[in-house]
Amino acid sequence: MYNISVSTVDQIDRKANAYFRRWLGVPRCLSSVALYGKNKLNLPFSSIAEDFKLEKVRLVLELEGSQDPSVRAANQGLSTGKKWSASTSISQAISRQQHKDLVGSVQVGRAGFGWGKRDQRWKSANPRERRQLVIQEVKRMEEERRRVTAVGQSQQGAWLNWEGAVERRLTWSDLWSMQNARLSFLLRSVYDVLPSPYNLTRWYKNEESCQLCGQAQADLKHILSNCKIALQQGRYTWRHNKVLRLIAVMLEEVRKKAKGATARTQPIQFVREGQKPKSADSNNINTGGGPLSRGKWEMAVDLDRQLRFPSTICVTQLRPDLVLWSEDQKSVLIIELTVPWEENIQEAYERKKLKYEELADQCKQQGWRSRVYPVEVGTRGFAGTSLLRLCRDLQIQGKLQSQFVRQVTEEAERSSFFLWIKRKDKCWKKAVQK
Ligand SMILES: [Zn+2]
Repeated sequence: MYNISVSTVDQIDRKANAYFRRWLGVPRCLSSVALYGKNKLNLPFSSIAEDFKLEKVRLVLELEGSQDPSVRAANQGLSTGKKWSASTSISQAISRQQHKDLVGSVQVGRAGFGWGKRDQRWKSANPRERRQLVIQEVKRMEEERRRVTAVGQSQQGAWLNWEGAVERRLTWSDLWSMQNARLSFLLRSVYDVLPSPYNLTRWYKNEESCQLCGQAQADLKHILSNCKIALQQGRYTWRHNKVLRLIAVMLEEVRKKAKGATARTQPIQFVREGQKPKSADSNNINTGGGPLSRGKWEMAVDLDRQLRFPSTICVTQLRPDLVLWSEDQKSVLIIELTVPWEENIQEAYERKKLKYEELADQCKQQGWRSRVYPVEVGTRGFAGTSLLRLCRDLQIQGKLQSQFVRQVTEEAERSSFFLWIKRKDKCWKKAVQK
């Protein structure tokens, strides 16, 4: 009765996906990799076909593992069509697990050896754990299949090259609280399926161009971060400053709190006999501040009026976005924000790092300790790992950190949405005043 073939499920899946895309406000050409994959933008959906496969695998494992021979025999009658079979998938998963045992733990990315949790070993796992391992492995195989598809998509799979960008996860409650237009923009911009002049030319074969500078077949990257006229009109600066303002507000808060924390000395706790001492005020631990909690700090931001690098440290022509310095600690933090196209996050980091290296050296010669923090927040709302590094060093942790990162990234994304809407508006001044 339940022997449906995978092809039938695929058909159901396709039909559901069509409605799904309409609901999300994305075009039909958006691939299912975008909807279900563990990509840079993670959505809370899972595909019907994948769930079907996982359930079948679970069922076969359950039947196979039974003590009763008649239950084991029921396994024979299970069929899922020619395209995919649960038992082949299971044997593949098992051999992959065994292979993993032979290879041992491997490290991915830049983390050191032994970082993170070690995987459960197939050899030492009990039957129940083995079932879990097989199901996880089948899931992983499906994900790999999607990766392969993504690699073949030059435009929609561009997120594979977003080096240094932090993943973003949307939950169901995010989806409900987001405006439809914004959600649709976010999805379409990440997978580059917005009606940019380039895409319009490709789709409808009539030549379109950038309305500001007239460049033929301008793509989304051109509109959101590369147009000369938009740069001259200060569109990108406007977005940059909006993001910078949020960062400045956050750092000012951290600075104030850290100052308060040092001023308040911890009173001595007297503990009665037989009682346990109260744990330290949890608020106090969370304020953090890192280096800011020692000494008196001042802050200057390149907003509203031009920033001049504090002359007590050294004289320079450079104007970083944000400077925090402490006379008595003789230390200075230089923060420079960039809002780049996501594929250029790593490059922007290197470029800004190099630009301020000399200034940092100059500070050192004057007897100041200095650190340079180039920070990137991508145009479509993806933070660079550099933002997390700044948070870590200033001890902005836990909930506060995720809130902060979220605010900053959403501001970048929202501002880009505004730039997108106004892409045909020649007069920027009027557009931004409204
Ligand atoms: Zn242009």
